[in-house]
Amino acid sequence: IPVDNFDLVIFGGTGDLARRKILPGLFRRFRAGQMPEDARVIAAARSEHDDASYRSEIEAAIKEFGGAESKDRKGLKAFLERLHYVAVDARGDGGWQQLKDLMRDGVVRAFYFSVAPGLFGDLAERLHTHGIADRDSRLVVEKPFGRDLKSARALNATLADHFNEDQIYRIDHYLGKETVQNLMAVRFANVLFEPLWNSHYVDHIQITVAETVGVGGRGSYYDKSGAMRDMVQNHLMQLLCLIAMEPPNQFEADAVRDEKLKVIRALQPIDSHHIVRGQYEASEKTASYREDVENPKSTTESFIALRATIANWRWAGVPFYLRTGKRLKARSSEINVVFKDLGHSIFEGDEARHRNVLTIRLQPNEGIDLQVTIKEPGPGGMRLIDVPLDMTFAQALGDEADDVTDAYERLIMDVIRGNQTLFMRGDEVEAAWAWTDPLIEGWEARHDVPKVYDTGSSGPEDSLMLMHRDGRRWRDIK
Ligand code: NAD
Repeated sequence: IPVDNFDLVIFGGTGDLARRKILPGLFRRFRAGQMPEDARVIAAARSEHDDASYRSEIEAAIKEFGGAESKDRKGLKAFLERLHYVAVDARGDGGWQQLKDLMRDGVVRAFYFSVAPGLFGDLAERLHTHGIADRDSRLVVEKPFGRDLKSARALNATLADHFNEDQIYRIDHYLGKETVQNLMAVRFANVLFEPLWNSHYVDHIQITVAETVGVGGRGSYYDKSGAMRDMVQNHLMQLLCLIAMEPPNQFEADAVRDEKLKVIRALQPIDSHHIVRGQYEASEKTASYREDVENPKSTTESFIALRATIANWRWAGVPFYLRTGKRLKARSSEINVVFKDLGHSIFEGDEARHRNVLTIRLQPNEGIDLQVTIKEPGPGGMRLIDVPLDMTFAQALGDEADDVTDAYERLIMDVIRGNQTLFMRGDEVEAAWAWTDPLIEGWEARHDVPKVYDTGSSGPEDSLMLMHRDGRRWRDIK
């Protein structure tokens, strides 16, 4: 279904994110017929380009990052004609009048801030003073949204000077994933799960986001950030919210976000022995974390595992174990809802503790499966085995696009539709920082030094102990 006609201005349209994700994603929506024929994408950035040179740059980017779809040369040519370029200086006056002249009336106006957050205020102000943005315009902003509560508040205040909250779309691409949306369908459109979704039946929940890559070219940025700020405060906490929230009374942006906010506010402070930080060691082929960030004394974490608890009726006493890290054994993101043991087994010799586990897999092979116990087929007697009830829906994605591009394109279409459900609200972001800030301040005050872990492992030994101590174990990263 095509969305309304639009002019989408991408500030930072020549940057890495625009070239690798935003424009290839828009091209896929264009090919799918979702982008109206005369919708336009206007790139605004610092370099000097005209439409023709910008188009050829993006043509190359889409061929490189756009997957199999970029072989559609006719489609690509038609899409490139939708692109325009204006050289704009976020901190000066150059280019703004030209941008204003380009914008059409009567179409959705969206402005994507794909630039360093230090420029958000300048851009918001100039959009306003040059009369380019109005009350109906939409603003898309990228992460990182601050590095602590104070800076996030300042950013929110800066944007609020010129835009209302219902115009602001803070992107967390994890929320654009098919599985995440499906998680809400599974929870709230079935009678089976919701009655069991509480401390009476759930033993604990695990959320793992494991990467095999190191910090790559982002070393200097990453070393000032670390896994807590870069991954937990946004992506993992968003996943936790969707698992833990109460059913909203309708599937509508503020109803959903109100419930997520309540979860964040109910998160309890964490003792230092329930947090494990790590740094990867060198392997034969790859450098260590400290070498990668060129900081031999760095105490920033490339891995973190923690045990969180939510103080409300539904989740009293149910631990949420979260972990994420780089250079781990596999690229894998999943949520596991591990149900309690049966109180009593009627099957003789059933010492193995058979447990139902609902696995929500975001990466690879997006899908959901439920581990159930059945009789081993055949005449061998009453032996029990665990099998997955598989709800894999990794649909026609194939190898046409990676999952991140897919998430971006969905979210951008939601911006044009004016649907904020899958975007973080300002108060959510601030509440998340309000929870993580004291944890970070705690380890800084203790001068905590991260534990080292082998490249290709599951993280530091202590992170395994975090669960062993509780008589539990992490699901394998695979
Ligand atoms: P980049 O450095 O590759 O690109 C920056 C862009 O900003 C360029 O187009 C540049 O021309 C423009 N720019 C810089 N100064 C300007 C000015 N004064 N006036 C106008 N334009 C100016 O950055 P990026 O990697 O594309 O990241 C952009 C934003 O997205 C950042 O906030 C980043 O944190 C965020 N982000 C990036 C990624 C990624 O994969 N690259 C992922 C998540 C979030």
